[in-house]
Amino acid sequence: MTLLPEVKEYYGKIQNYIDGTWVDSSSEQILSIINPATAGVIGEVPLSTALEVETAIQAAKRAFPAWSATPPMQRVQYFYKLKDLMEKRFEDLARTIVQEEGKAVDEARGEIRRAIESVEVACGIPMLMMGRNLEDINRGIDEYEVRQPLGVFCSVSPFNFPGMIPYWFMPNAVACGNTFIVKPSEQVPLTQNLAFQLIAEAGFPPGVINLINGGKGVVDNLLDSPDVQGISFVGSTPVAKAIYSKASANGKRAQCQAGAKNFLVVMPDADLDLTVDALINSCFGSSGQRCLAGSVIIAVGEIGDPLRARFLDAASKLTLGYGLDEEINLGPVISRDHVERVHGYIEKGISEGARLILDGRNPTVHNYPEGNFIGATVFDEVQPEMVIANEEIFGPVASVIRVPNLGEAISVIDSNHYGNSACIFTSSGGWAREFQHRVRCGNIGINVGVPAPVAPFPFSGMKDSFFGDLHGQGMDGINFFTERKVVITRWSTSSMGKGWG
Ligand code: NAD
Repeated sequence: MTLLPEVKEYYGKIQNYIDGTWVDSSSEQILSIINPATAGVIGEVPLSTALEVETAIQAAKRAFPAWSATPPMQRVQYFYKLKDLMEKRFEDLARTIVQEEGKAVDEARGEIRRAIESVEVACGIPMLMMGRNLEDINRGIDEYEVRQPLGVFCSVSPFNFPGMIPYWFMPNAVACGNTFIVKPSEQVPLTQNLAFQLIAEAGFPPGVINLINGGKGVVDNLLDSPDVQGISFVGSTPVAKAIYSKASANGKRAQCQAGAKNFLVVMPDADLDLTVDALINSCFGSSGQRCLAGSVIIAVGEIGDPLRARFLDAASKLTLGYGLDEEINLGPVISRDHVERVHGYIEKGISEGARLILDGRNPTVHNYPEGNFIGATVFDEVQPEMVIANEEIFGPVASVIRVPNLGEAISVIDSNHYGNSACIFTSSGGWAREFQHRVRCGNIGINVGVPAPVAPFPFSGMKDSFFGDLHGQGMDGINFFTERKVVITRWSTSSMGKGWG
């Protein structure tokens, strides 16, 4: 066992970062931050008051005129500095994620790499913000479009990617000239606490980027404020729906990425080595706590038995433990409550008649008896109408459904109300093409188990996995954070006076 050192054992009560200053919250509502592997308390997070939220909004509002008037080329200089600082503190950021969220350290490194990629893409804002023009829409008349920032935006994020998800939004929004408020998940606020130390060090002007800790109350205050232009939300479907409705009713822009149930189709001609590796990573990486986590494997035709044998063998070899141990590949789930929730789904699967072929409940994890561990769990003989085949479990539980052909596989996927991602494993371009063309999901993998779009592309999602129209990242992100103005000009040669030819 090679256990990496923790960044700190105890972080104390964390602060908000408002108007360029670290400030204590006066809230009496304080939650413990728990390390999900050790069950130790590693810090406290305040649920900030309405007055503190308002202070952050007003700081961001005051900062907007000067920041939006700063030329884009100068704005991105701060992001070059921030990238540098993130590279320097890369390991500390990754280890903080492990301490509060639980995933294996290599996965946390991947997460921070993705956050840095978002900063790198935002450094291209001077090009990305460019408008378009058309000369001579009529004689002497030109038309062009400019993009302008709108004001104060905010992000509200879930527990499963504390380092990456705020970065799907903040760098684009701020590089476009808006000012911003980050509200991390109250279960995992420590990574943003460190990320904001780097933001402070990068020297962004006061009020441009603010951090406010808390839960539902803070989100309600943000949504009720007439000074907040828009919200980028990522989290569960019921909350996404509620936030989308409230934000729209209050006249705000809203992009709300939500829950998921992701299907992985394996065709009879799939390369089994590649496929099994990808399925294991998809279903059990981050302990199944990814919105792109594979949850239901649909085996088509005669591949069912060999696939089941290989998948089961690989799943039973996964090693549970504290994510700071470089040798483990399955960390804990986020909380005790979440263990109970996942156990509930496993019991439901058994009672519905699915065959439990690998039971990960109550594993023994050496040195971490109090941790929230669930081992890899696999059900076979699952029917499409069962609860475990339909609801988001968000834990290391995979279900295998068998169908005779691709058409049936696609109808199983399309009858689900989520539409975040779907993957196919095949050697046939025809089947792959048919799949990507017909299936109603936003992110498609072809021989890829976790189809996570990189920062230049929008993070898609359909049906109950997304509410809004402009998605996070890519040009959608730029459009979300800017207003387009169309200018029509008429300059005739007669207005040029005598100086002309
Ligand atoms: P959650 O919905 O419980 O919480 C998300 C955020 O919303 C937190 O910051 C929380 O403080 C806030 N919140 C919670 N209840 C609220 C309420 N009633 N009103 C206003 N704000 C509220 O989600 P979670 O458990 O932290 O995260 C897991 C969920 O996130 C899963 O469903 C997962 O699929 C989803 N997710 C989706 C994506 C995506 O891109 N589609 C990515 C990651 C996670």
